[in-house]
Amino acid sequence: MKKCISILGSTGSIGTQALEIAEELGIKVCALACKSNVSLLEEQIRRFKPEVVAVESENKAKLLRDNIKDLQVKILTGKEGLCKAASFGRSEMVINAVVGVAGLLPTVCAIENKIDVALANKETLVVGGELVMDLAKKNNVCIFPVDSEHSAIFQCLQGANLKKEVRKLILTASGGPFFGKTKFELESVTKKQALRHPSWDMGPKITIDSATMMNKGFEIIEAKWLFDVSPEDIEVLIHRESIIHSMVEYKDHSVIAQLGTPSMKLPIQYALTFPERVKSSVQPLDLARLGKLTFFKPDYETFDCLKICLEAIRLGGLYPAVVNAANEVAVDLFFNDKIAFLDISKLIRKVMNTYIGSKNAPREASSIDDILEVDKLARDWASEFAK
Ligand code: NDP
Ligand code: MG
Repeated sequence: MKKCISILGSTGSIGTQALEIAEELGIKVCALACKSNVSLLEEQIRRFKPEVVAVESENKAKLLRDNIKDLQVKILTGKEGLCKAASFGRSEMVINAVVGVAGLLPTVCAIENKIDVALANKETLVVGGELVMDLAKKNNVCIFPVDSEHSAIFQCLQGANLKKEVRKLILTASGGPFFGKTKFELESVTKKQALRHPSWDMGPKITIDSATMMNKGFEIIEAKWLFDVSPEDIEVLIHRESIIHSMVEYKDHSVIAQLGTPSMKLPIQYALTFPERVKSSVQPLDLARLGKLTFFKPDYETFDCLKICLEAIRLGGLYPAVVNAANEVAVDLFFNDKIAFLDISKLIRKVMNTYIGSKNAPREASSIDDILEVDKLARDWASEFAK
């Protein structure tokens, strides 16, 4: 069992569940990081006694410092602080549960310092999959998936020779709150409806991404990099009950699935205890009570964010980073009642077309700086187009 881990994004949905798991398993937490929720961070510091914490701004750090004068904890700030928290020397694993592209740099910092990463922050792989996986290989660092679908696939692949034996990966998707709706019906959906996910209680950004199905598009890209498979060999299957977390179809057409009560605690715990399995506080599955499981094909026309992601990953290079940046801006605008639900994919499409037409924009993701540069460019375009 690990002795000491770091949790980035500790105040969020995944971060708080990761802390509960650490407590249940008796693992010490040596570094914590969040953006600005210093009141919850203070509670976490008092309970878990980390050696280092990081917050985004100097103001928040000062507030925190004033409130925890009685404690011995190093408080860091900015990107550098987040990076230091990610590479804290005594940590054996970093759980990266930061939301958005802000999670990229700390993943890189952990890898460069040879610390294994339990990755919830899928944006890391969406924007920088190739670079990050190469870097991990070079540094002999393992990236353990926390995203439930990818954890499921990772579990279904144990003991397999992926390159020789696997025919395809099947990513299940709940379909979100708007499953079965037409484009016309989606014109009038509200933020409140979009935030009502049928089976998962998650942070606001990924909940909106699930409503547009951008989340599943991102997960195709994430799976491509994690398991080194082509997007053509990844199928999306709507499964409303969220009991089968994903599947692997082998060459002999045998399908292996991972099932469980929908809870992120399972994949978080598996990433921490791999290759062992230990007792969990997650409710056991009662299949007889469920009675049946259902499956449907996804609607790529209505939920065109899925299509945008497929196009972006086929084009490769920095295209997925452009889509991610435009999506972050669009979701934020929708969240702040500035644009309608269907405008999210329209705005992303417009940014993508502008990028395709732009002669000077960088194309190849040859460094982290390239990614951050195009991220900024795409954000500027998205904000401008939304005015
Ligand atoms: P939340 O919004 O609930 O939490 C986000 C966390 O990241 C918070 O702790 C937040 O701090 C922190 N954060 C945001 N920006 C920064 C920054 N610039 N620097 C440092 N910390 C920052 O998100 P979720 O927990 O839902 O999701 C986290 C990640 O996990 C996402 O990438 C998501 O796609 C992925 N994921 C989530 C699942 C879920 O069930 N929630 C399932 C699968 C994947 P603060 O509170 O101070 O703002
Ligand atoms: Mg998922």
